This record gives sequence, C-alpha cells and structure tokens, in this order.
Amino acid sequence: MEPTAIIRKTPADWRVAPNFSDYGAERARFDWNAVAASLTGPMGVNIGWAATDRWLATKKAERVAFRFLAAGQPPKEMTYAELARQSNRFANLLRQLGCAPGTVVFVLAERIPELFVSVLGSLKCGCVASPLFSAFGPEPIATRINLGRGKVLVTTDLLYGRKVAGWREAMPTLQHVLLVAAEGGQTAVPGTHDFASLMAAASDAPVAGVTAAEDLALLHFTSGTTGTPKGAMHVHAAMLTHWATGYYALDLHPDDIFWCTADPGWVTGTSYGIIAPLLHGVTSLVDREEFDAERWYGILQDQGVTVWYTAPTAIRMLMKAGAELAQRYRFPALRFIASVGEPLNPEAVWWGKEVFGLPIHDNWWQTETGGIMIANTPAFDIKPGSMGRPLPGVEATIVKRNEEDDVSVIDTPDVEGELALKAGWPSMFRGYLNNEERYRKCFAGPNHEWYLTGDLAKRDADGYFWFVGRLDDVIKSAGHLIGPFEVESALMEHPAVAEAGVIGKPDPVVGEMVKAFVSLKKGWEDSEALRRELLAHARKRLGAAVAPKEIAVLASLPRTRSGKIMRRLLKARELGLPEGDTSTLEGGA
Ligand code: ATP
Ligand code: MG
Repeated sequence: MEPTAIIRKTPADWRVAPNFSDYGAERARFDWNAVAASLTGPMGVNIGWAATDRWLATKKAERVAFRFLAAGQPPKEMTYAELARQSNRFANLLRQLGCAPGTVVFVLAERIPELFVSVLGSLKCGCVASPLFSAFGPEPIATRINLGRGKVLVTTDLLYGRKVAGWREAMPTLQHVLLVAAEGGQTAVPGTHDFASLMAAASDAPVAGVTAAEDLALLHFTSGTTGTPKGAMHVHAAMLTHWATGYYALDLHPDDIFWCTADPGWVTGTSYGIIAPLLHGVTSLVDREEFDAERWYGILQDQGVTVWYTAPTAIRMLMKAGAELAQRYRFPALRFIASVGEPLNPEAVWWGKEVFGLPIHDNWWQTETGGIMIANTPAFDIKPGSMGRPLPGVEATIVKRNEEDDVSVIDTPDVEGELALKAGWPSMFRGYLNNEERYRKCFAGPNHEWYLTGDLAKRDADGYFWFVGRLDDVIKSAGHLIGPFEVESALMEHPAVAEAGVIGKPDPVVGEMVKAFVSLKKGWEDSEALRRELLAHARKRLGAAVAPKEIAVLASLPRTRSGKIMRRLLKARELGLPEGDTSTLEGGA
C-alpha cells in the first residue's frame, strides 16, 4: 500500500458505535463547563474522588478498576470500591503524618498496586503527587525530590536500599519514607515507616476537605529529550481534559478493557494509565514487566484488550520482531489503537492495519499540555504520518515567532511554523518548577494567549496537523529547513530499517549536512552495499537536497526511558561534545 494513501473510515469499521463521529458538530457543541459539572462532587474538583468514590453508588463499584499482571504470578485485581477504600486510607495516613494540602508526595515504585493507591490517596487529601520512574538512578531521584521539595516518599524496601538510603542526607526536605515490602509482609528499616502497617491503622473513611479546580495536583518531569528535564505543574482541573480525551481520542466505552503501556513515571502513564480510564469506569491492565514482543502480543490476546494506547518505540520493536510472531496471535476483542510520544511513521500506521486489522491512531501532546491535544480519532479519515486534528475544546494553530513575545499566525496551509495552542484548556501546565521565567516565555501574542510548544509543524487545507520536528532538531542545510521526521520516515520505508534518527552535522559548505543513524530489522546485516542502498533509497524518495549524505548503522539508537530517540545524544556523540543530562537515557545509571 502507498504510505501516502488515506485510510478511510466507514461505519463497517466499528464493532460499537464510536463516541465521536461528527467532528465539526462536536467541536461546536463542546463545553468545558459541562464536563466540569459532571466531575465535581462533595470533595470539590478532586481527581482522586472523581476517579474512585464517584462510582461508589453505582454498579461500577464492583467492577475491576485495575488488573495487575506480573510474570509468574496470578493477576491481582482491585475493584473501584476497593481502590476507593485504599486511597482513603492513604489520604488519612498522610493527614496523620501532618501533611498539609500542597505537600509533595513522591512515589518511586514498579507498577505495583501501592503506586496507584498512593497517587490517588495523595490527590484526595490535596497533596501533590509525583510518580518517578523506578529505573532512575540515585542521583536523578534526589535531584527531582529536591527540586520538588518532596516531604514524603513512597517506595519499596528494595528500591530504598539500592537507590535512596545512601542519599537521604542529600534530601533535606524529605521527612517521611514509607516502604512497601517487596515480598509482602512488613519492613523494619531504620528511618522509615512500614507502608502496610500505617495503611492497616488508617481509617478507610473519606478524608474531610475539598480541593478547588486550580489547586496543584500533579508534578511531572518532562522526558529530557532535548535537555535537562523540566518539572511541569498541573492542577485538579486537568482531569476535565483527561475525561474529554479519553472520550474523544481513545474512544473509551464503559465495558472496555484498556491497556496504556506507559509507566506512571511519565505523564502518559498518569494521565492515561491512571486518571482517564478511572474517570470512564473502565478496567485497566497494568503490566509490571518491561517490553517483550511475545508477552505483549499475549496480553493483547489473552486479556481481551479492547483499547490499546502505546508508543511508536513499542510499535517499532514489534515490527522489528517480525510478522511471523504476530501471526501466532489473534485479537478479536481489540477495536481501537492509539499511539503517542514521537511521530508515528506512516509505515507503522499501515503495519497496524496488517497485523491487527486496525490502523494506529497517532496523537500529539506534551508533559506541559497534560493531555492529548491533537489526535487521529474515529471521527475522520486517517492520513498516515499526520498527527490528526485538534480535539473538541482545543484550538491549535501554526505561528511564526517575531521579536520579543509577539507572534504572527500563519493561515496559509502547508507552511511550516511553530505549533501553538490557545491557552486555557484545563490540563495546561501552570508553571515550570522553580522556573517562572521559562514558563512566561512559553506564551506569546495578545494577552499571551498562545502557548508555544517548541515543536515545528504544518497544517494542511483539511485542518490536519503534520509534525516536522522539534525546533531544537531542525536541520538547516543549504538554505532548506529539514525536519528529521520526514527523512526518518523515508528511511523506515526500506524493509531493512527498524528505526532511524537524523541529525544535522556542521558542514562548511551547506551549513548543516544531514546524517542518518539507523538500526536494522531482524535478519539484516550492516554492509557498505546496504548503506549505499539506503542512501539511494532516501535520495529517490526525498530528493538530493533533503536526503542524508551520510549514514551509520547502530545496534540500537539512544532512547529516553519513555522511548524517544535522543537526537541530541546522537549529535553530541558524532561531534565529540559533552552528552549533557543523561538521567532519562534508557540503560543509563
Ligand atoms: P524535554 O521537553 O525534556 O526535551 P520531551 O519534550 O520529549 O522532553 P515530553 O513532554 O514527554 O518530553 O514529550 C513531548 C514531545 O514529544 C512533544 O513536544 C513532541 O516533540 C513529541 N511528541 C509527542 N507526541 C508526538 C507525536 N504524536 N508526533 C510527534 N511528536 C510527538
Ligand atoms: Mg518537551
């Protein structure tokens, strides 16, 4: 199939009627206030309440909220009612420890039930939850806890011994460390509390108190793809976006079995691994293990996943594992697939059609936006390679930055510029931790109404947005501006290429020369002839001005732990420059 062909949506595509089918009408009708009204209750605007207690008087109370999977163990299930009780206990426990609203609670754990309970319980009592990725080394953990002035840390006894104990002195704000015993039972480590004992002693009645829409709720660190990770602060009203996007972009229906593969240490894993599915009352799968192609196909098949939200890196790894493996599985329950985190190459969208019989719906957002902003949805055809159209409640445009904090909006279709969003959607970040100046600089135009995303994109005449690259990654070569995504996608069309990362390398003649790094699919070997073939393939697809002049084959590309190709590292290594902050590098310390 031509990668540039359109994937048409017809009613026959849907096993159940999608939530979203008339793009224009739904956007015109949409009202954030109506969403707010449906999610507000006795605890005010409170994510923890809306996600759990809101269901207690309904049949959902006994539905499984989370099914936790781990290799070699039977699944553990937790109903909405149980999750409500457990998170109440944790909220009461925090109150007993003297945690006032606004206290920052860090959670450092593998994807275990206590992580989910701690996040929701923190939210219920007005504390700010900040889940950290459990594979971080001691230094990135300490840096983040210090930046956030964390007072409470929930972790496991094993992680504490390996990563935290030796650094306690270096974290002066940390007053309470709660340890979950990895093997069950109790812990008795000096200077810490036993999580299970404190929970058992705490009441499971709702905590008193209310939170307001603008109260701080979550602290998330960005992926560190382009530099030192930034702390983005979000408020309780963010759940309005989580609900709306779960409805429009993930098409969540009440009976769904939903699997978001992201770790809660990244914003996707919290917004869509915890909050959005609970707001919709669906059952979510949480797998404790890391990526494994056979395991993942097995989960999709055996657990009867209906809606799957994953990332391009995982899709590329499944593609790399080969078609024969996929053919051993069947996915009759699966009805909707979405992806986020990086541009999704057209090849991958088509691959979804082949393997699952379903296209993959790419969507775009950032830690700063708190939720999905631009998406391919059931409501319109897919143009593979495009990230789709702005969702109801979201206004997006392309701008050019002028002097100071002024921008001009580019109305002409197909012209590249910076992607900007009209400020004011509920999950917009409310600040960068300890960096007011940087936050201010993200907004421009009259009344600072445009949030500037730092991503380059263009919009076509049908209103679809196309990702070009990050401002930091764009290559300037002989007067052209070249977005790495276009070059990477062209390389990915070659059957040998599993993944590609493209950088600009300083060149005295053309300014920057395009250099590509690729890794190969199973069964292919690096050779001079193959590299020449890949360069020729790219030249044919892209023309000589845009195609790479050099190519190198690597066993794998450097990636963030959230799965994004780190072009800045490819570049630093190529040029022999310092690598900068590598705290989020996969496989790093
Ligand atoms: P840092 O800001 O620390 O450099 P990061 O930007 O990778 O890291 P995230 O907030 O996790 O941190 O990622 C958001 C970015 O990921 C977006 O700004 C965009 O560049 C990229 N991205 C996410 N989804 C898509 C998508 N569907 N298509 C293209 N790019 C995407
Ligand atoms: Mg970013």
